[in-house]
Amino acid sequence: MSVIAANLQAVNQRIAAAAQQAGRQPGDIALLAVSKTVSADRVRAAAEAGQLAFGENYVQEGVEKIAALADLRSRLQWHFIGPLQSNKTRLVAEHFDWVHAIDRLRIAERLSAQRPAGMAPLQVCIQVNISGEASKSGVAPADVPALAQAVAALPGLRLRGLMAIPEPEDDPVAQRRPFAAMRALLDGLREGGLDLDTLSMGMSGDMEAAIAEGANLVRIGTAIFGARG
Ligand SMILES: *Cc1c(COP(=O)(O)O)cnc(C)c1O
Repeated sequence: MSVIAANLQAVNQRIAAAAQQAGRQPGDIALLAVSKTVSADRVRAAAEAGQLAFGENYVQEGVEKIAALADLRSRLQWHFIGPLQSNKTRLVAEHFDWVHAIDRLRIAERLSAQRPAGMAPLQVCIQVNISGEASKSGVAPADVPALAQAVAALPGLRLRGLMAIPEPEDDPVAQRRPFAAMRALLDGLREGGLDLDTLSMGMSGDMEAAIAEGANLVRIGTAIFGARG
């Protein structure tokens, strides 16, 4: 078995164990393989090992990889998970299936307008600044409901839920706090009438805590592809 296939198996086992611990079904948690800085050949190896959803952070790199793997396009799901500038929205709208880091209405409006008519709506999440650090991107929790209502009304998009990158934290108990706050925020939006199903949270170092608090899409890079250079 290749290293990537073995790593994927180990990550899927971690997800299954965390789900079981939380009384959840492993099949309810989707694995997004974060392939930023990873070559198209190694992404292909992951796809051959059965991994079909990939996350990219940089527009140009992502678009090039999607082109290099065009023969697999109908089977793969490409997620744009990095911060997005307004001059790059068109490429993302034309090539990706999902965008995780919506943090202002202007970006969402551009993506909606630029989504080609023949394609399914772009699936999107709003990024929440759940740890409240000044340096991190994302919307303040208090501003999420208004943005969510506005994004949900855009015809080229389908709002699926929320995404967060909490401040790194080693203590597993402390790791759970921001994830619990994310779940409460999503529950509040659903009570407000929005049809949402996605909590995109959990990375290589905190996926167990995220799954314990209801994550259903974990974004894993290092544990699959190794440390980035
Ligand atoms: C790089 C990245 C990840 C993956 O992080 P790892 O610690 O390598 O698992 C997840 N989400 C986002 C937004 C990232 O930029």
